Amino acid sequence: MNSIISIDNLNHTYGTGALQKPVLSSITLTIEPGEIVLLTGPSGSGKTTLLTLMGALRSVQDGSLKLFGQELRGAGKSKLIQVRSQIGFIFQAHNLLKSLTAWENVNMSLKLHKLSRQERYDRSIAMLQSVGLGDRTHYYPENLSGGQKQRVAIARALVSQPKLILADEPTAALDSKTGRDVVTLMQTLAKEQGCAILLVTHDNRILDINDRILKMEDGCLVQDRPNQVTA
Ligand code: ADP
Ligand code: MG
Repeated sequence: MNSIISIDNLNHTYGTGALQKPVLSSITLTIEPGEIVLLTGPSGSGKTTLLTLMGALRSVQDGSLKLFGQELRGAGKSKLIQVRSQIGFIFQAHNLLKSLTAWENVNMSLKLHKLSRQERYDRSIAMLQSVGLGDRTHYYPENLSGGQKQRVAIARALVSQPKLILADEPTAALDSKTGRDVVTLMQTLAKEQGCAILLVTHDNRILDINDRILKMEDGCLVQDRPNQVTA
């Protein structure tokens, strides 16, 4: 079986000429199906850059990055879009569309999938029920709490049953209990679907639930180990 992500000697630089700045150096790593991986490290160490490369949101400059067995280096736009549609994204700010209700936001993720309107509706509602928002399906984001909005974002990321979730500091805007609940929910649902998660976080309150921890410093992966915290 293919790894979900397979990265070999990946380098990345921002800017050109005198302003050129190396941001990722010699990153090598694999993530297997269903694995939950936590990515930590100081601000500016390159975590978001790595996540956007993994998400096919940015072009690979140097080295190899395979997603679902497909090489992204040199990949054209249509391939990047196709790969991207197989990933669930969750960001720090929930990024919900304000003019759409909770179910319509979730439904957006299914637009590229070959389903009837009714099937999309039913799946969106069922997914919102499984994140505990069955009674909020027709609410607009402005009428939901921070934790509820982030749960809509989780529903939106998971509804298409992706094999990979990329989450960039999804608890940063939440209080500690809400953040913890949101991540536990994401983990439980992903496990049910056999979905791998790469979770960027500073939040050490959620360390105990993760399978593996990666640590970045100055663009390098300085640690990759199974988690031994058993809080
Ligand atoms: P982290 O997510 O760990 O905080 P980032 O990947 O966002 O780190 O940033 C890594 C480094 O790259 C930082 O020094 C940041 O200032 C720089 N950087 C990030 N994005 C850009 C960009 N679009 N152009 C130039 N430099 C950038
Ligand atoms: Mg970041």
